[in-house]
Amino acid sequence: MAMFMIINRHRPEECEAGFKAYEEVKDKLNPAIKGATYYCPCPFGEHASWTPVEASSAEEALGYLWPEEREHSRAIQVETIQI
Ligand SMILES: [Zn+2]
Repeated sequence: MAMFMIINRHRPEECEAGFKAYEEVKDKLNPAIKGATYYCPCPFGEHASWTPVEASSAEEALGYLWPEEREHSRAIQVETIQI
């Protein structure tokens, strides 16, 4: 397993629909992403999210997402460094 950062970008007008889609699936999330920390700057005017997950590939990481989130996301492999 490797670490991936799921990076989502969406337009302000897509934000509410994205949140509603999450509300509908939140109890059925893939166990691999359930409980992950979801960094969301939307309330502060930047419409995006960043979610670190463990996966064996970027495709697998994206596969953890629900369709509305996956549509606006990409996953990049990262390493973590303590600074
Ligand atoms: Zn947003």
